[in-house]
Amino acid sequence: MTSLKIIQPLENHIKKKQIVKGQEKILEKQGYRLVGNHSAVKICGWTKNMLNGKGGCYKYTFYGIRSHQCLQMTTSMFCASRCKFCWRGLKAPVSKSWYGPIDSPEHIINHAIDAHLSLLTGFGGNPKSTQELLEEKKDIRHAALSLTGEPITYPLINEIINAFHKRRISTFLVTNAQYPEQIEKINKVTQLYLSIDAPNKELMEKIDRPLFSDFWERMEKCLDLLKTRDYRTCIRLTLIKNENMMDLKGYVDLIKKGDPDVIELKSYMWVGASQNYYKVENMPHMEEIREFSKELIKLLPEYEYIREHIPSRVVLLAKKSLKKKVWINFPKFFRLLETGKEFKAEDYCSRTIMPNK
Ligand code: SF4
Repeated sequence: MTSLKIIQPLENHIKKKQIVKGQEKILEKQGYRLVGNHSAVKICGWTKNMLNGKGGCYKYTFYGIRSHQCLQMTTSMFCASRCKFCWRGLKAPVSKSWYGPIDSPEHIINHAIDAHLSLLTGFGGNPKSTQELLEEKKDIRHAALSLTGEPITYPLINEIINAFHKRRISTFLVTNAQYPEQIEKINKVTQLYLSIDAPNKELMEKIDRPLFSDFWERMEKCLDLLKTRDYRTCIRLTLIKNENMMDLKGYVDLIKKGDPDVIELKSYMWVGASQNYYKVENMPHMEEIREFSKELIKLLPEYEYIREHIPSRVVLLAKKSLKKKVWINFPKFFRLLETGKEFKAEDYCSRTIMPNK
């Protein structure tokens, strides 16, 4: 890592080092704002919904994330897969390893929050937004590191997570399970997601079209690491009808390997570039996801059904040992961090809604 150059301060925070020529304009048209050399933000539809008084995302229902105070962003524009179900186009950058300069965590956070708030400026005049929500939106309480690319590849990923926590901003980090060495670096994150897109090697190669030839072994290594993490962990299955809703035994083996605290079974969404590969019929209905989750639970008796969010077509399962305490006690999470002592996922799980204030 010694040869990597850290940009501090950012003199021009709108550069496109990880963006191929012509992509910047396309991304901005799609609502992205590029931040520095390799990061981006985009306002989540649920953030707008919440500000319009239409309710929060499934992570609000499941864990207490306040959608109108959520910063959706990435710290890397490239990815090591070309998943057919992804909304990104084929022109989106792909790479196995990091390239380009490295922006500092503080600058990424400052500029990302600025860009996020400036994208939300128009909401000031919306008659459906209450003054309270509009005031609260300025106070970011959660960072969803998942927008596009593989945020975990950012060489200072552990540092930026810690910097968010210092500001009492909780973190969810989603990865496609191709970078075990990066997972190893992360000492504390509020919840770590592994996205598992297929139950076996053949299907994963077909759906994810990974760059790494050892993609399966990398995923297995990530699962082994997931099992050893003390913080909250989640395996997310993106279910595509007539494509990967099969081989329950394969899913069960992978889930047992990763031993996550919670499992999300979520419908594939027919959006963006994925429409070139799939049809709207590939989106399973809520009933089909429910059925699939019931079949899965039969083979995973240590898990139980918790709840679902119909608009997002997602079901949440959790370990019985959590005793249905799937909400996140955010104040406690930060208090525990401040002690500097080791703590476990159960220590900041809660049965009741703990607003992320
Ligand atoms: S947690 Fe995810 S879905 Fe919910 S508001 Fe944030 S970015 Fe959107």
